Amino acid sequence: MKPVETPLRRRAERFDAIVVGARVAGASTAMLLARQGLRVVALERSREGSDALSTHALLRPGVVQLRRWGLLDQVVASGAPPVRRTVIHYGDEVAAIDIASRHGVDAFYAPRRTVLDAILAGAARAAGADLRFGVAVTGLVRDDDGRVRGVEVRGPGGRRTEIHAPITIGADGRRSLVARAVGAPGHWRGAGAGGLVYAYFAGLDVDGYEWLYRPHVSAALIPTNGGEVNVSATVPAARFAHDVRPDVERGFWRVLAEADREVAERVAESTRTSRWYSFPGQPGYHRRPFGPGWALVGDAGSFMDPTGAHGISSALRDAELLARAVVRAQGGASGEREALAAYQRDRDALSARFFQAVDAVASYRWDVESLRAELLAMSTEMSRESEALTLLDRPPALRLAA
Ligand SMILES: Cc1cc2nc3c(=O)[nH]c(=O)nc-3n(C[C@H](O)[C@H](O)[C@H](O)COP(=O)(O)OP(=O)(O)OC[C@H]3O[C@@H](n4cnc5c(N)ncnc54)[C@H](O)[C@@H]3O)c2cc1C
Repeated sequence: MKPVETPLRRRAERFDAIVVGARVAGASTAMLLARQGLRVVALERSREGSDALSTHALLRPGVVQLRRWGLLDQVVASGAPPVRRTVIHYGDEVAAIDIASRHGVDAFYAPRRTVLDAILAGAARAAGADLRFGVAVTGLVRDDDGRVRGVEVRGPGGRRTEIHAPITIGADGRRSLVARAVGAPGHWRGAGAGGLVYAYFAGLDVDGYEWLYRPHVSAALIPTNGGEVNVSATVPAARFAHDVRPDVERGFWRVLAEADREVAERVAESTRTSRWYSFPGQPGYHRRPFGPGWALVGDAGSFMDPTGAHGISSALRDAELLARAVVRAQGGASGEREALAAYQRDRDALSARFFQAVDAVASYRWDVESLRAELLAMSTEMSRESEALTLLDRPPALRLAA
């Protein structure tokens, strides 16, 4: 559906920033802007507390962000178990890696999205942001020179209104209306894509995160809230379409057994506690994330195949890079274009090599040696990223010196 574009109306609510979408990217951005004293509204068309189509392993940069923002305690209190070890199966070879204590993080977590998204929404509200669920943005509002000045919304009951602000932030996911409406150009495009099926299981012992790789298949076991484990099984998107999608349950068991027969037997002995969820796969992309009066964050601006398990961490990182840029621009510390261009530069610099590595793994054209090299590259990039996020806490002069 083509987004609606309307001329500016005079009577409308006004804020300093509008955020479209209020999940990991949107709620975090709204929280960070509100913490800096901006008047923010976040508009989310789904119901508050609803689930998202996503597994939810957080890697170090994501946990670093939650710690820095003072939200990690809530994740721990939710009962998401600490993950202190990553076990990687390269075919029949198994490597166990203990999580090192670095950047104030000694364990990873994989809270359910119903838990994490609610924590972020609560933190945004506590900071003073106005979060509205069940409200769909239907189009952008522009002034005569084409600058985005706000959004048109349809609330419960179908009533249409406008909301205006100097900046409209699309945190509205892979099918972003904001990105489509502004015609945000793509500047990187991936080729690899995996299609996957997942479900939750109880009574399944896991030793931290378990990632399983064998030529043309992969799988993951991710411990989460309530003693449950998220188990996913992935194949290249082309195979998924004809071999898994027609019967996702059969496809799941077949692919999991291909990845590792013993692990499949362990999972089969546990109890499935959820329905099946499936994702057909989508190649990664990076879009230009800003223009006059608008910006993009989270999946709206960049997406990587889920095999990288980094989308949430990227969203939490970019929420902060963007919020800082918006605050600089609105406070007059720099021009809007300059501040938002710096946001793009930092985002791209922190994700370029990671993006390549994820794309290579998602191509499923690797052997064990090249897979190892790509996973090592991802790990190196995440250390660099965690370091960069930690440095944000230092005053700018010290950051430059570091
Ligand atoms: C199968 C799968 C598995 C994944 N596994 C992992 C993993 O293990 N670890 C990890 O870190 N990442 C993972 N990811 C990636 C992760 O899910 C995303 O990167 C993350 O959800 C991005 O968050 P977001 O807030 O940008 O977008 P979303 O979570 O998609 O939220 C966007 C929100 O915008 C709202 N919205 C859209 N349009 C409008 C509108 N017009 N008006 C109002 N609201 C609107 C939607 O309702 C939605 O709630 C996975 C993704 C998939 C698909």
